[in-house]
Amino acid sequence: MSKQLISVIVPCYNESEALPYFFEELNKTISAMPEFDFESIYVDDGSKDTTLEVLRAHSAQDNTARYISFSRNFGKESAMLAGMRAAKGDFAVIMDADLQDPPSLLPEMMRLLTEKGCDSVATRRGNRKGEPLLRSIFARCFYGIINRISKVKFVSGARDYRLMTRRMLDSVLSLCEYNRFSKGIFEWVGYKTEWISYANVKRVAGKTKWSFSKLFGYSMECIVAFSTAPLAISSFMGFLFFIISVIGALYIIIRKIVDASSAVSGWASLTVIILFISGIQLLCVGILGQYLAKTYLETKRRPDYIIAETEDKTEGSDK
Ligand code: UDP
Ligand code: MG
Repeated sequence: MSKQLISVIVPCYNESEALPYFFEELNKTISAMPEFDFESIYVDDGSKDTTLEVLRAHSAQDNTARYISFSRNFGKESAMLAGMRAAKGDFAVIMDADLQDPPSLLPEMMRLLTEKGCDSVATRRGNRKGEPLLRSIFARCFYGIINRISKVKFVSGARDYRLMTRRMLDSVLSLCEYNRFSKGIFEWVGYKTEWISYANVKRVAGKTKWSFSKLFGYSMECIVAFSTAPLAISSFMGFLFFIISVIGALYIIIRKIVDASSAVSGWASLTVIILFISGIQLLCVGILGQYLAKTYLETKRRPDYIIAETEDKTEGSDK
């Protein structure tokens, strides 16, 4: 019986410093799992450093390694998608290039997958040690909110490091939305998932690519992609203010009837109310705009990424 194939998918953006360590670690893991065949797919997400050269050299000397290089930086989501589309394995695993997703966990993940008979083994960080305070407060709030307003469950501290079977991978690939948020998609497709947690490790070399504003944008994208609750909340607010205004009007009318000489005074309070209501209105229009903008992007049907260079080892070309 031929061995089963595991596809290792590695998104890389400016990872030339970390990659040599990663190759070494992955090789150790591969030799620890002789019962499987491996292929690795490195996706260069428009790196500005020498990542592409490193990947070219690596794939030239390692027959099981392939690379895909994007024409510019399309983001990690696109890089993961390209890798998953290229994967030929019976199993696929996504790993960061900076060793924050230790390849040494793979044998354990594979054991769990077979033992529990599930379709996916996912990882989460046991702690947020070494993370800036603001970032971890923000992350906690985000998971609190999204789990309240979305039907799909999001696990706090979940990483993209995940092993899955071919049928789960095919299901993930069958979703063809443009605004991708993989953590949600993996949950949305269902299947039984086992979670393992491990201590947060520092990246081996290089710098993180996620600024606070990039993370903030990413989480907003997630909310729009997996929940329509903000739209419902804004309609509810509209209704609430309508009720309040009816009560206010009734109050003024009744007061006038009871005491004809009373006049409602106070332009300051009036100004505050007008500002408040118009602020809420703008907020709601903004929320609506977010959904409209996403719909607009979806209807354009642009590709998720553009591949500038790759090599196809099956054709026998050795470029
Ligand atoms: N990455 C990518 N495209 C990007 C940003 C990041 O492919 O636009 C890759 C990066 O090379 C790494 C992984 O995604 O392999 C995680 O990125 P990083 O380590 O910077 O994020 P962090 O671990 O700090 O959340
Ligand atoms: Mg990292």
